Amino acid sequence: MSLFLYNTLSRKKEEFVPGVPGYAGIYSCGPTVYGDPHLGHARGPIIYDVLRRWLAHSGYRVRFVSNITDVGHLVDEVKGEGEDRIQKRAKLERLEPMEIAEKYTWAYFDDMKDLNVLRPDIAPRATGHILEQIELIQELIAKGHAYVSGGSVYFRVKSWPQYGKLSARNLEDQEAGARVEVREDKEDPRDFALWKTADPEHIMRWRSPWGEGFPGWHIECSAMSLKYLGESFDIHSGGIDLQFPHHEAEIAQAEAAGHKFARYWMHHNHVLLNGEKMAKSTGNFVVLRDLLKQNEPMVVRFYLLQSHYRSVLDFTGEGLEAAHNGYQRLLYAYRETRRLLASASEGRHSGLDTALDQLEAEFSQAVNDDLNTPQAIAAFFVFLPELNRAFAEKAGRASLERTARVFAELGEGVLGIFPPRVLEARLEGHLLDGLVKLLLDLREDARKERDFARSDQIRNRLGELGVTVEDTKDGPSWKVEV
Ligand SMILES: [Zn+2]
Repeated sequence: MSLFLYNTLSRKKEEFVPGVPGYAGIYSCGPTVYGDPHLGHARGPIIYDVLRRWLAHSGYRVRFVSNITDVGHLVDEVKGEGEDRIQKRAKLERLEPMEIAEKYTWAYFDDMKDLNVLRPDIAPRATGHILEQIELIQELIAKGHAYVSGGSVYFRVKSWPQYGKLSARNLEDQEAGARVEVREDKEDPRDFALWKTADPEHIMRWRSPWGEGFPGWHIECSAMSLKYLGESFDIHSGGIDLQFPHHEAEIAQAEAAGHKFARYWMHHNHVLLNGEKMAKSTGNFVVLRDLLKQNEPMVVRFYLLQSHYRSVLDFTGEGLEAAHNGYQRLLYAYRETRRLLASASEGRHSGLDTALDQLEAEFSQAVNDDLNTPQAIAAFFVFLPELNRAFAEKAGRASLERTARVFAELGEGVLGIFPPRVLEARLEGHLLDGLVKLLLDLREDARKERDFARSDQIRNRLGELGVTVEDTKDGPSWKVEV
């Protein structure tokens, strides 16, 4: 069974065929690091993380590249005007622009870590790749697809008739999209900046063949994806907002310079908050860090994966609450499986084995169908009643072991919703049972030898750890005070 992905370029689901058998290269547009990540920033990294994990699970060697935009992103990117966002923030916080970039790069990585998103294999910074961007611009100028004007360099859109093929925009749409009077230095309102000359007060600036300036926003992704993934690489991904102009520009820059660019284009849809677009100006907005402080990050991840990535997701309190409950049921089932394994007798449970066959088949089918994570999660919920029945019927070890392995591979490994910290975070599981029982046995031995000082010490030390021991006529019992 192979993986099918919806390719924005062809507007249909296509079988994923890697450029090099056994290898998969993915480029995902990363954040512009000038502020705290918000809820909308979490969806893309989580879904492409599942893609990456699934490809690895399916036997591919994956290289996942996601950039950090730390330069050149103007407040009014459409007009190609306004202040550099990072510089604007630097003035506000009275920091160097590079301090702002570092601060918010790490804020982003910290949030992604809490959400159990694997770190990119390469997270190239735009500022670290100025030379590569300049070289690509030079190739475009040499081929007549770019021109120098007043120290800036623009892409000549009319020289590249394929411009618009990804976003399916015709010439009129593009002109409407540009919706500005022609800047004096541009030949055509649709032309976009590859390099911009720096005003005297612009701090982040580099020397170039065209004078001091800084790269346009789009050029970094063309240059860095080609550098690390090579010609005609496999998958390029990003938010639906980026289709135009960002990704359209990326394709034009790479292909007009004579390169073969990405073959599969994936776009994830918007996240709404309580039915409305998120916007700082209206207060309908959640900083990701705040959300992750108030909620178990895995519940947030689970919630986001319960919608298909190409549909709009409406994030609500009730939705989060429902996700919490569903997640707890899955987590309980996984933990209980592991706990019961310790005392299970030999043998199998045929009902459980059949249910596991079905779960594995449905899960693969769902994920292979354009990453249908809601369906993959639903397969687990179909499985739970059968698992509970098997618990009640004291299923044998071999079937429980297989259950634990399926939870580990698909839930923990592919969906990434059961990281070890969550599995071990609460004082449950057979390890704790075993350790407390060991200590209580030692305490019983001490009592039999009338070493009451030692038996009290064990009881008191357990008490300090929140484990209360009670002596009953059937022997000692214990519980954890939370
Ligand atoms: Zn990009």
